[in-house]
Amino acid sequence: MADSEYRYVTYETVDDGTIARIMLNRPETRNAQHRSMLVELNEAFLRAEEDDTVRVVILGGEGPMFSSGHDTGSKEMWEELRGDNPHPTATINGGSRSGPESLMLQEWHYFFQNTLRWRNLRKITIAQVHGGVYAAGLMLMWACDLIVAAEGTIFADVVGTRLGMCGVEYFAHPWEFGARKTKELMLTGDSIDAEEAYRLGMVSKIFPVDELGDRTLEFARRIAKIPTMAALLVKESVNQTQDNQGFYNSLHACFTMHELNHAHWMVEHDDKMAVAKLGEDVPDWRGTKLKLAERDTVEAV
Ligand code: ZN
Repeated sequence: MADSEYRYVTYETVDDGTIARIMLNRPETRNAQHRSMLVELNEAFLRAEEDDTVRVVILGGEGPMFSSGHDTGSKEMWEELRGDNPHPTATINGGSRSGPESLMLQEWHYFFQNTLRWRNLRKITIAQVHGGVYAAGLMLMWACDLIVAAEGTIFADVVGTRLGMCGVEYFAHPWEFGARKTKELMLTGDSIDAEEAYRLGMVSKIFPVDELGDRTLEFARRIAKIPTMAALLVKESVNQTQDNQGFYNSLHACFTMHELNHAHWMVEHDDKMAVAKLGEDVPDWRGTKLKLAERDTVEAV
């Protein structure tokens, strides 16, 4: 059962409603996340959560890649945050305040706490990723319990090298990549591929691109057979273990540092731009392509 209640995501249930499939649906921007998409995604996740028939939720993306990250440049994005007819959420939750206070509150609600909410969803979630998963694309993927990738998927967080930022708002990197790998990837802007992600334990399955949807669904069907109580408590046992290891507090501390990093750039720039400027604060990276982190070269060719 599909429905078109949303504009930037799709929501359907299959197998008599036991599996919900949410797809990011802004392929022309490579699923760049703007406010409308994130608000709709939240509604879709909560809809799957409240539906007692749903056991497993799949999150995928239409088009050439899962998600290129936050939308930082489209006309649509600027219109809905600063235009004459702003998105309803752009004038609440700090949106009518100014400076770092405004940014901190808006990012708290629409980048950080929503991601944490999806991570804690009372359903088993599977991220179905392909193409590229960049920066804030990682947040969406990491919020899910399991990750299935298409062959050739590339993962990267380039905000350190390109935006002069210490990572995205939901800083799960050390928990996913490991501590040293996180430092390496963030300090170089290099990427890893699906095979490396599999070796790290971040990705559970790698399927051919043209089989990704069907095989992720098969995987979801297998998991949907587990009694819901057991499935949730498995999820929660792992999540609470991580929370007791410091996951929850670390993410909050790193969110605060992220906002400090934004505040730094706001003070540095006369126009209050909250990230590093291209060619001024960071080298101009336009025209360069993402490089894989290689074991025996300083920088891949
Ligand atoms: Zn930010």
